[in-house]
Amino acid sequence: MYLADYHVHSTCSPDGHCTMAQMAEAAVAHGLQELCLTDHVDTIYWDTYAPRTDFDWARSLRQAEEARRLWGDRLTFKLGAELGDAALSFERAEKLLSDAPPLDFVIGSVHMMGPRYGHEDLYYIPKADKAYYDDVIADYLDDMLALARWGRFQVLGHLTLPVRYIWDNAGIKMDFSSHLDAVEAIFREIIPRGIGIECNTNRGAIPLPDEMILRLYRKMGGEIITIGSDAHTTQYVGCKAAQTQELLKNCGFQYFTTFTKGKPEFRSL
Ligand SMILES: [Zn+2]
Ligand SMILES: [Zn+2]
Repeated sequence: MYLADYHVHSTCSPDGHCTMAQMAEAAVAHGLQELCLTDHVDTIYWDTYAPRTDFDWARSLRQAEEARRLWGDRLTFKLGAELGDAALSFERAEKLLSDAPPLDFVIGSVHMMGPRYGHEDLYYIPKADKAYYDDVIADYLDDMLALARWGRFQVLGHLTLPVRYIWDNAGIKMDFSSHLDAVEAIFREIIPRGIGIECNTNRGAIPLPDEMILRLYRKMGGEIITIGSDAHTTQYVGCKAAQTQELLKNCGFQYFTTFTKGKPEFRSL
């Protein structure tokens, strides 16, 4: 079984704890054949939410070189990015991408609540009831649709991310069953243009998106799908990679996807 993790953060992310070389070492220890680093490249600063168009690519390249030197004979090492919140300013997102070195892979992600909630980070979503969360999800999906229309990335990241923080902060299990029309509109936007989604294994918690949405994507003709742990520490590198391949197979997929310089490679499940 070919195991790859396509969503991993290093100390080049504000919330990363380990170097790329340490993450690569963990990938080898956990039996992976391929690892793609996807540090946060954001259109705003984390602490102040002020506009941002700079990223320290030199530091990323130094770390990537070290990881390849130490582990490149045992692991295919790719350099990508998780482009955060492009919908806040596509102009800034384009500047960030145009300054980047050639990347193998870009995830397009929304981490913020929508405009009706002041673009507060979903991480801080308040304790509330299901009706409130359904409103937040609807607003979030508007930003996701705008991001999908822009489309300068290979996959949409953790499509159902609010579910993670609603569970963490309020202990309420939500899903996107009341929002399938909005999700279908996003899939109609990306599938014909060769843009995919990821199945984010969510460090072992419920996958983002879950089986219901994965099946919908496949039914609508979606084929491009990556598997990523969202590890910020070595412990979670490759988390549930094999089980997620089984899940995708059960949802009707024949392949999962890896990327080289933005071009998809289909790996049999
Ligand atoms: Zn993310
Ligand atoms: Zn991430």
